[in-house]
Amino acid sequence: AEFRECDLNRLVHDTVLLLRRPCEKQRVQLTVEEGELPPFRFDPEKIKQAVLNIIKNAQQALPGGGHIRIATSLREEHAVIDISDDGPGISAEDLPLIFEPFFTRKGAGTGLGLSITQRIIEEHQGRVQVESAPGAGTRFTVELPLGGP
Ligand code: ADP
Ligand code: MG
Repeated sequence: AEFRECDLNRLVHDTVLLLRRPCEKQRVQLTVEEGELPPFRFDPEKIKQAVLNIIKNAQQALPGGGHIRIATSLREEHAVIDISDDGPGISAEDLPLIFEPFFTRKGAGTGLGLSITQRIIEEHQGRVQVESAPGAGTRFTVELPLGGP
């Protein structure tokens, strides 16, 4: 991994730019709330991939439109990225499986996105967590230590 001092808000901004147009077409509203974050060391290409995987899943969960909210914040020496959507949510049976490689509920899914995301976050000594319930939407929380790995 290529760790260097970067601006996480800028990375989130750049990642969201890639999805603005397709989301608009799908009537998915993308909201970004940037919290104050100091620069810290991470691998920007990998973190971009990790965040993109989560946001793409949110987009795919909203075929008829909806809302994706992305918020950054600082919490106990960690940078936090919160990605929530108001899609259908994930069943209690599926929830423990979604980070498993090849687990997918999509006809043409690879089931690799979240396992790659988790591996990247772990390489940064961070954590990724999910809260979801059917009808209550889904929220992923990524925490990255400011101290770096
Ligand atoms: P894929 O996108 O190829 O299916 P992922 O590893 O990215 O693989 O996701 C695994 C599964 O987790 C998805 O198939 C879906 O069932 C579930 N999932 C992930 N994110 C969401 C979300 N935001 N809303 C509903 N289900 C989700
Ligand atoms: Mg995916």
